Amino acid sequence: MVKSFRPRKPVTVKTQEEADALVRKMKGEMEAGSSYREKSLKLHGWICAKCGREFEADNLHLLTVHHKDGNHHNNPADGSNWENLCVYCHDDEHSRSLLGDYLKGGKK
Ligand SMILES: [Zn+2]
Ligand SMILES: [Zn+2]
Repeated sequence: MVKSFRPRKPVTVKTQEEADALVRKMKGEMEAGSSYREKSLKLHGWICAKCGREFEADNLHLLTVHHKDGNHHNNPADGSNWENLCVYCHDDEHSRSLLGDYLKGGKK
């Protein structure tokens, strides 16, 4: 038996300008937020590079991307500056590198 298909009310986009703004907002969030994280997770897998803990979709938020050189703007596409670390190892990594930075003369 075939149900008669009733089209929903069409979603009306008020103006082209509004639609563009929405697209810009979504793109901006992706770029500013987690685009390198997504790439790094794809490249290196859902696993902590330090303790070897594996992650699943429901705890993936605990897996973070560490920048080996500490520069969050250095995001080469081959992933050479990224390391996937769980929040615990990431914290550990930074408490060490903080000392390293201190010994090297601190922040720029
Ligand atoms: Zn770890
Ligand atoms: Zn880090």
